[in-house]
Amino acid sequence: MSHAEALCTARGVRLTPLRRRVLELVQSRTEAVKAYDLLAQLSTEDHAAKPPTVYRALDFLLEQGLIHRVDSLNAFVGCNHPDTPHAAHLLLCARCGRVEELHSDAVDAAIAKAVAATGFVARHARLEVQGLCAACAAATQDN
Ligand SMILES: [Zn+2]
Ligand SMILES: [Zn+2]
Repeated sequence: MSHAEALCTARGVRLTPLRRRVLELVQSRTEAVKAYDLLAQLSTEDHAAKPPTVYRALDFLLEQGLIHRVDSLNAFVGCNHPDTPHAAHLLLCARCGRVEELHSDAVDAAIAKAVAATGFVARHARLEVQGLCAACAAATQDN
């Protein structure tokens, strides 16, 4: 968390108490977190957590690369290396809900090359891969 604060300070943006709390709540889970779960959690705490405020906090954290959006789940996950902007390819476990990031220069390069070949001008590309995480895949084989 201090890392996120240092990053925001270096970028000249403010990690307000609500933004910090939203980030904590997203980062405390290995599965993706939906906005309404955050709202429900925050409403039990001492924050003035009106929905627009929470959505703005999520937008801020997305802009800063501290969290990623999981489009297929309409939810969010924390990023543990927000220092450099990157395409967040996500591995989604259908069994335990765990979300992991896949980092592969080879994948990025392959997408860029294949897309460029069509003449399409890409802004950003993000993959979401559905399946089983390593632990769940192992557990499934044991049965
Ligand atoms: Zn990331
Ligand atoms: Zn799993």
